[in-house]
Amino acid sequence: MKLVLASNNKKKLREMSDILGKEGFEVVSMGQMGFDSDPDENGETFEQNAFIKASAAVKICNLPCIADDSGLEVKALGGRPGVHSARYCEGTDLDRTLHLLEEMKDKEDREARFVSVVTCVFPDGSSVSARGECKGEITREIRGDGGFGYDPVFYVPEKGLTYAEMDEEMKNGLSHRGKAISLFANLMKMRIDKGNDNADK
Ligand code: IMP
Repeated sequence: MKLVLASNNKKKLREMSDILGKEGFEVVSMGQMGFDSDPDENGETFEQNAFIKASAAVKICNLPCIADDSGLEVKALGGRPGVHSARYCEGTDLDRTLHLLEEMKDKEDREARFVSVVTCVFPDGSSVSARGECKGEITREIRGDGGFGYDPVFYVPEKGLTYAEMDEEMKNGLSHRGKAISLFANLMKMRIDKGNDNADK
């Protein structure tokens, strides 16, 4: 089954293709299909935003469209930046990461989690959605130079490493997004096994 990713982010495309490709899905970006879409991500939850992005894309492509929404929830900040992770403050990923360290500088409780939701919306309006989470802690300084976004301040105790200190394979094996995509692949297979995959035809 062909799935259109409602994003032109090359890293997202590769990660989705790697996991979903093994399960027999072909993932193409909207750009590869010659389409573009940039809806307002004004939902209050990751689920709402993933659905907004995927359903805007399906209206344009008329094929099953997938979208993900993700972010970092920090307990001592009442769950912020959460769905606003990409827009936490003006500037670059590094600016946002430093802003987080500044906000956290007097906080003892460092607990945080990354959340990712992957959703497919079909042309008939039905949808499949999966959530993945990874628990961790916010470090007191930047550690590691891999990855992107908040990776250098997100420490995973079970590995003793930040996301930015992991290689891609290790991160994908335990990350919020890796878990969400794997669960999503299973839910999609179950839907197909039940014979409910005609919506895209
Ligand atoms: P979106 O899902 O593309 O809207 O991204 C949400 C924002 O969450 C990104 O801009 C990053 O700041 C942050 N984020 C999501 N996943 C990760 C990750 O795996 N590492 C670091 N930051 C992430």
